[in-house]
Amino acid sequence: MCVAFRKVFFVSFVSFVFAFSSSSFAQARKVYVSVDMEGISGVVGDDQTSVGQPEYGRSRKLMAEDANAAIRGAFEGGATEVVVNDSHGSQRNLLPEDLDPRARLISHSFKRHGMVEGLDETFDAVIFVGYHAKADSPRGLFAHTGSGVVKDVIVNGRSAGEGGLNTMMAQWFGVPVVMITGDDVAVEQQKEWTPNVRGVVVKRAINMRAVESRPLAEALRDIQAAAKESVGAARKVARERLASYKVRMQLRNFTIPEVATAFSEIQLVAPDTVEFSRTSMPEAYRIIRVLYRFINPD
Ligand SMILES: [Zn+2]
Repeated sequence: MCVAFRKVFFVSFVSFVFAFSSSSFAQARKVYVSVDMEGISGVVGDDQTSVGQPEYGRSRKLMAEDANAAIRGAFEGGATEVVVNDSHGSQRNLLPEDLDPRARLISHSFKRHGMVEGLDETFDAVIFVGYHAKADSPRGLFAHTGSGVVKDVIVNGRSAGEGGLNTMMAQWFGVPVVMITGDDVAVEQQKEWTPNVRGVVVKRAINMRAVESRPLAEALRDIQAAAKESVGAARKVARERLASYKVRMQLRNFTIPEVATAFSEIQLVAPDTVEFSRTSMPEAYRIIRVLYRFINPD
């Protein structure tokens, strides 16, 4: 009787210690991966990046391979959960059956926060995969910001591409951007926002159209290794929230600015340029997205 009691006590004690140690020391580590297409390894032509184009099927597979390399590395670096956000065009490029089965996938472009949909304070690290240079960069494959209608987005006096805008969202939530993959210009531009980011250059932009690609297997190895290291070293940062976000957006047409004046908070400051101010970055981001994506007067 006494022996049986001791045994039960011992087993319960061991389970208690195990439960206590696993909740205290095995920390959850959530990683957010935003995947665009222009900066993916092996994507080189503009007949590869939209649905219906002859080489689109190839590039969505290549996109999944770069994403999977980052996911594998993230788990090796200690991630316990990985959320992937399809961030290109229709945002329905990544097929769930092609993706590492451990990752969750956010799809479809009808999102208020576009390329950073679902990102919040609960994440520990952000990875950008397949990113490209901002609009009007003299070099950089398929350089643009948001969509082809944008000439520039300037926030508090600073010109921002997609990497810059998404970084300000990550900073708002206090989640560090630890890694980016893309062409050399995309990586260079990201370092201006996050100097300590790990950059994996998968191709060198010769101009806006021509690139020199690295061997695919080598690029995938580097993405996986960089994800492992950067997720392993990631530390949460303090939320960075500015007093206000003053946005100036220059379009490539006069129609979007004219339609935008229907909203009283948006001022027309030139026939092709609007300005507005917000005290929250997510609010500013949503308005920027409405302007380039959801107003379509043509
Ligand atoms: Zn993009």
